[in-house]
Amino acid sequence: MVKETGYYDMLGVKPNASPDELKKAYRKLALKYHPDKNPTEGEKFKQISQAYEVLSDAKKREVYDRGGEKAIKEGGAGGGGGFGSPMDIFDMFFGGGGRMHRERRGKNVVHQLTVSLEDLYNGATRKLAVQKNAICERCEGRGGRKGAVEPCPNCRGAGVQVQMHRIGLGLVQQVSTICGACQGQGQRISPRDKCKACGGRKITRQKKILEVHIDKGMKDGQKIVFHGEGDQEPGLEPGDIIIVLDQKVHPVYTRQGENLIMNMELQLVEALCGFQKPIKTLDNRTLLITSHPGELIRPGDKKCVFNEGMPMHRRPFEKGRLIVLFSVVFPQENFLPPERMHELERYLPNREASDDPDSMEDDLYIYAELEEYDPARHRQSRHHFHSMDDDEDFHTGGGVQCHTS
Ligand SMILES: [Zn+2]
Ligand SMILES: [Zn+2]
Repeated sequence: MVKETGYYDMLGVKPNASPDELKKAYRKLALKYHPDKNPTEGEKFKQISQAYEVLSDAKKREVYDRGGEKAIKEGGAGGGGGFGSPMDIFDMFFGGGGRMHRERRGKNVVHQLTVSLEDLYNGATRKLAVQKNAICERCEGRGGRKGAVEPCPNCRGAGVQVQMHRIGLGLVQQVSTICGACQGQGQRISPRDKCKACGGRKITRQKKILEVHIDKGMKDGQKIVFHGEGDQEPGLEPGDIIIVLDQKVHPVYTRQGENLIMNMELQLVEALCGFQKPIKTLDNRTLLITSHPGELIRPGDKKCVFNEGMPMHRRPFEKGRLIVLFSVVFPQENFLPPERMHELERYLPNREASDDPDSMEDDLYIYAELEEYDPARHRQSRHHFHSMDDDEDFHTGGGVQCHTS
């Protein structure tokens, strides 16, 4: 039992969630509440990050489960209290492979792309429109006409202004502040020379169509990175565009690693006497699932078909297994008139010998009536006491009677 569930609730998972479930939950929420997409939800973004930071670390999760948020804030994990910045956690999670000099690059742009299991099986190409900052093409990032850039007259190109403050008795304090006239750039462009396309900002908002190739065998949550396609800024290496795949739930198949799992319902006659059932594969072929002669399927049995699972990423000719999980549908009650039941019984294996009521002939019986089980009802079911001698009391109506006469 966990002490409190606040962090789990924040991510919308159960306290027994696996690391994969936690990752998926964080991924969805972090993309949804990222300040780029949802500028008013900064607090929520922070809380999601904190919850994920704790729960994704086995040690911290244990501390939280035992002592709740208080224990985490007191630094019970041994690493001291306090949380990482939500942006750092986000970048670590979605980062395009942990490149150094992060601060010298433009921002990464992260997008989620919803795909079907069929897309991941067959591969697909998707066009995705993204917005990003790009160096202005008109002025090539200069912000104005060539030669129009001149040192800022206010700071003489230094970008900072030094001010003297007299703090009494001949003492002077030097304070340097960023130059307000050029915002620390050290340059200025006179208004009439400013680039008309970007208004002197050097960058423009651009719409870009990306062609995303989804390879066979890719997984839910997998990232496709477009290096250098993220936000551009003059003087900085551009960031990346990172596409995160998000697989929709499939009505028939569930994926587990390289395997596909499906449920198959058999009628009792199929389970006992054999069956052939067609199923549609994810690439629209029809597989005929066929039982072996004499084979019998029990409810809950698992069988598999080799090489009909998911293709392996980068080795698409190798595939996992298709695992079929069987359930058996029993016939309706009274599907045979009682007199014909004996015929059916002839073909079924014998009842167990101890069921023979003759061996108990002179004992006192307690006939227990079987009723539908309703978990909400606690009332004790009725017991009927009978001795084998008073026959006329037998007919209590309904239910199963455990004697044969
Ligand atoms: Zn200046
Ligand atoms: Zn421009």
